[in-house]
Amino acid sequence: MKDRFDRNIDYLRISVTDRCNLRCVYCMPEEGVESIPHQDVLTYEEIMRLVRISAGLGVTRIRLTGGEPLVRKGIENLVADIKAVPGIEQVSITTNGILLPEKFEALHSAGIDAVNISLDTLDVEKFKKITRREGFERVMEAIKLCTDAGIKTKINCVAMKGVNDDEFLAIAELARDLPVCVRFIEFMPVGKNDFEKCVPWQEIKDTLDASFGPMAVDIEPHGNGPAVYFKPDGFKGSIGFISAMTCAFCDKCNRVRLTAEGFLKLCLQYDVGTSLRDIMRAGATDEELATAIKTTVWNKPKEHTFNDYEGAEDIEENSMSRIGG
Ligand code: SAM
Ligand code: SF4
Repeated sequence: MKDRFDRNIDYLRISVTDRCNLRCVYCMPEEGVESIPHQDVLTYEEIMRLVRISAGLGVTRIRLTGGEPLVRKGIENLVADIKAVPGIEQVSITTNGILLPEKFEALHSAGIDAVNISLDTLDVEKFKKITRREGFERVMEAIKLCTDAGIKTKINCVAMKGVNDDEFLAIAELARDLPVCVRFIEFMPVGKNDFEKCVPWQEIKDTLDASFGPMAVDIEPHGNGPAVYFKPDGFKGSIGFISAMTCAFCDKCNRVRLTAEGFLKLCLQYDVGTSLRDIMRAGATDEELATAIKTTVWNKPKEHTFNDYEGAEDIEENSMSRIGG
């Protein structure tokens, strides 16, 4: 599926819920956010219908996210059903890892291809401060289960000035002995977040280079996204950087998002898109839905303007948990 800037859109991120069992400081307020009423959230049947139609339009890869995708009951059945759709080549999940140990076998049997686990610190006390919940040990167990089973595993670390910038080296070291890709994500001001905390990726890379030696670019394919990867000498895994703030990668953007409410969202920064749920619940045929998806994707914005935030229009006011980061 092409947009008007000739980008090929073949990657769909689906948020299956806005609910979460953590309250990460950069994502949700301590008291949580008002939950979307159940009847407004897409059912699994509705998600499957949209997946089938999207696959027919050229989507080959699906990522399930949230909120926390593993808090939604029966997520393993959804994974298995999506895996069975002709044209879908990869189903992955982005999770905070808390429920992964108990759901691991079911997800593995369902055929999950890749798992991204969020981890911003190796310090138990800091974990509690950042996530405002317990569970550090479960996240570490989740990482081990995935790597032991040979599942492609990435660790997502949101880099925050004054919060975890003293741990970048230690977190990157996880990739020395484990076949994981540790990715540092530039903190993004989604939902008008405080972006003073952003650490530019080059600054993190300089710190790592100073310790590991200049890191060679890792040319192996690593997935669906815009991250740049490096492989330090002697490491089993690799190090990646997702630099939405300092290095616009919009010209290569290959993705759209489906929110838990069934809104087809074109760009992380803007709230432009189409409610496929409303069209579907008004009785649209598959053909009409396919036309709505194609027309919406065609109008994907050229680029984000996170760096010129004050001047931008149609700005997304919701936090990542609501959008499906
Ligand atoms: N709950 C799951 C998790 O935490 O992995 C999936 C949803 S979460 C919104 C997806 C990713 O977005 C996580 O890796 C999280 O660290 C990241 N994220 C959330 N808010 C962010 C922000 N303001 N800037 C950068 N990354 C953010
Ligand atoms: Fe929940 Fe993920 Fe947001 Fe943390 S980043 S509050 S785990 S949705």
